[in-house]
Amino acid sequence: MGAAAVEDVLFPGIDVRVTAVHATEERVAVEASSCGQPPACPDCGWPGRRVHSRYVRRVAERPLVGRALVIRLRVRRFFCERASCRRRTFVEQVPDLSERYRRHSVGLRRWMRAVATFLGGRPGERLCRVLQLPTGRTHLLGLLTAPVVPERAPRVLGVDEFAFRKGWRYGTVLVDIEAARVVDVLPDRDAASFATWLREHPGAEIICRDRASAYSSAVREAVPEAQEVADRWHLLHNLSSAVEKTCHQHRSCLRKQAEADRDAEPRRIINPLPPPTLPPTKIAVRTVDRYSDIHRLLGQGHSVSEI
Ligand SMILES: [Zn+2]
Repeated sequence: MGAAAVEDVLFPGIDVRVTAVHATEERVAVEASSCGQPPACPDCGWPGRRVHSRYVRRVAERPLVGRALVIRLRVRRFFCERASCRRRTFVEQVPDLSERYRRHSVGLRRWMRAVATFLGGRPGERLCRVLQLPTGRTHLLGLLTAPVVPERAPRVLGVDEFAFRKGWRYGTVLVDIEAARVVDVLPDRDAASFATWLREHPGAEIICRDRASAYSSAVREAVPEAQEVADRWHLLHNLSSAVEKTCHQHRSCLRKQAEADRDAEPRRIINPLPPPTLPPTKIAVRTVDRYSDIHRLLGQGHSVSEI
């Protein structure tokens, strides 16, 4: 294979020239020189023309057929020749390969960030060890960048608590309901923090929250003009606990009625309500199946506790 082909295989579209390749059983070291257009001064934008010096930096790349890949990248340092600029020299970066102060290549960082996003710290670290990606838990977590928080709250803002660690530490998650996107995360679930956030991010017209929580007082305090609604989950949760409580209170009446019903002729319901039409989601199908199973077993004479 000629030298030109090595660049095409290892660095397609990247301005480097490979000068040597050293391979051992564990790793491959590639010596390469940048050969792109001279860059501009990062401070003043003046194009670099005169080379001050050259030096070699080590950049870790994604592994090559199971072997760690290191690039000994020879880069140029340029003079900034603009008299008014305070910077005397600057080092070039190779686009899509090297970044200022970084020991890892652009592509390797992209991989590691993906691992951190999908797996988090410890599991990510274990996977990286197997994949020969040189990193640790803390470094992985440091690659996660928080999304930019918008200056204004979304029109319909959802707020709910979530557990950093269940039963231990809780935070608050804020969601743009219309876009179905998380907009921010607060480190606790206090009314005061949420009220501060609401004041710093105006614009919420409807606030969708859990039932009767601290969040409600924050809304009344910070954006009294916003309309508060209970979110669908909590609405159903409220309904089911109310039904459960009522049924529990009337247990003896229900039992009496059930006994009377068993002895009597089955009543005919005149003009029943039409059955609700539900989308056939997995959970709906399962509930309907379970309901018919229960009634089939009841019909066969099994008791409720048996079923
Ligand atoms: Zn300059």
